[in-house]
Amino acid sequence: MTNALWDQLFGLHAGRETPFLHLPDGTTLSHDAFLRLSARFAHALTEAGLAPGDRLALQVEKSSEALAVYAACAAAGVIFLPLNTAYTAAELDYFIGDSGAKLFLCDPATADTLRPVAEGHGARLETLGADGAGSFAALAQDRPEHFAPVPRAEDDLAAFLYTSGTTGRSKGAMLTAGNLLSNAEVLTEAWRFTSADVLLHALPIFHTHGLFVATNVMLLAGGAMIFHPKFDAAAAVRDLPRATAMMGVPTFYTRLLDRDDFTRETCAGMRLFVSGSAPLLAETHRRFEARTGHRILERYGMTETNMITSNPYEGERRPGTVGRPLPGVETRICDAEGRPVARGETGVIEVRGPNVFKGYWQMPEKTAEEFRADGFFITGDLAREDADGYVTIVGRAKDLIISGGFNIYPKEIEEAIDAQPGVAESAVIGVPHPDFGETPVAVIVPEGAGPDLAQIEAALRDALAGFKQPRRLLLAEALPRNTMGKVQKAELRTRHADLFA
Ligand code: ATP
Ligand code: MG
Repeated sequence: MTNALWDQLFGLHAGRETPFLHLPDGTTLSHDAFLRLSARFAHALTEAGLAPGDRLALQVEKSSEALAVYAACAAAGVIFLPLNTAYTAAELDYFIGDSGAKLFLCDPATADTLRPVAEGHGARLETLGADGAGSFAALAQDRPEHFAPVPRAEDDLAAFLYTSGTTGRSKGAMLTAGNLLSNAEVLTEAWRFTSADVLLHALPIFHTHGLFVATNVMLLAGGAMIFHPKFDAAAAVRDLPRATAMMGVPTFYTRLLDRDDFTRETCAGMRLFVSGSAPLLAETHRRFEARTGHRILERYGMTETNMITSNPYEGERRPGTVGRPLPGVETRICDAEGRPVARGETGVIEVRGPNVFKGYWQMPEKTAEEFRADGFFITGDLAREDADGYVTIVGRAKDLIISGGFNIYPKEIEEAIDAQPGVAESAVIGVPHPDFGETPVAVIVPEGAGPDLAQIEAALRDALAGFKQPRRLLLAEALPRNTMGKVQKAELRTRHADLFA
């Protein structure tokens, strides 16, 4: 038996001295050098007692070594479980315990704090620093530079990826080699990636966007990545002239547009900008095109399903939409009972295909609730589909406001507010109300001289039905966002829960 994940993403590069990672210190790691490092890591982790199907959890800084741990896990059949670097010891306690990880890798700086956490769950702790040093690197030091990959089926689990925790506690999504490979193949083809591409990579590698979308596509295509430890707009402006493509969350694009030195010339060698993980405002899309001549390609996906829809590489990239279903991915938009709604109506998007995960780790009931009998996964995202198949994400079902029995979609109100002068952005949330159950409240981030709230109220009265009028307009310096740039509406709801109490 073969090991498809290893063979198709990593093994094919054996012996290739082509550039794979351009690192912050100015050095470049070739594909073959990366594979040799991965082989040493694979020996180290098998010698540490990890067998196929065991979990390796890690919370480490982004580095070529951290990525080599992913490759080592693929070779050894170990389930790779990367964790957000922002998680605290108390949060890690949950993830390490929940996943049953056998080995936990952390930064040398956090080892003293996290050792009791890991050992409390019977996990061995080793360290791996941003510079590649640490006890795990030491274990791997003199190991052989070749590792015979263990046989793995496409249906075997390759990774547990915890969701971003935007709507509640993160859930561990069980992803197979087949899930990852099918999406990598589809995206490489859809977005025309080849070995000539150089991707500016500034996303975290503990999340599906930076790890599976960006990295797997580049591995499959055989191109190189300019590896930034995190997104820094100045560094991006410096390195974009060496790149051909970038993938980012919407805040990358607004932060680039904030800089005067980000120009058409900066992007002269670029062929593609991709956005996802959170909604890209149509206005950002237009400003970006006016500045650079490039139309950002927006796509939509989630941890559980990999990528679901994408705007086309050739053809119309329609601002405010996430494009059409990717090849091999089936979608439908349904009511709460799973009955398809009429085209153009809003419902919850459901998805089926080789990209869809196996379920939530140790949550059989939650898994059963989120799947239909015919295998469609209920995303929890509200969407509608145009006559020509373009999907617009309207928001999350959990953020839908039900006021006096009426459904209110926050996005509609947010768009009306964002169009007013003095508004940078806004978030509309449902707040408990004694008469209506819930009522909409808008949190507005000012821009420039700031908004005239009376003017906004008047504009909303003209634009929206009475039941959709926000009962309160509140000002805030910024919206709470997580590392992926997602607005944390649950946090806003908690903050304003007592407004009408
Ligand atoms: P949790 O499930 O833990 O609450 P999360 O859903 O934010 O967190 P992810 O899997 O990282 O965790 O994110 C997937 C979600 O991100 C999607 O369900 C969707 O709501 C949102 N999303 C992704 N891409 C887009 C996009 N292009 N436009 C709008 N929303 C998007
Ligand atoms: Mg989710």
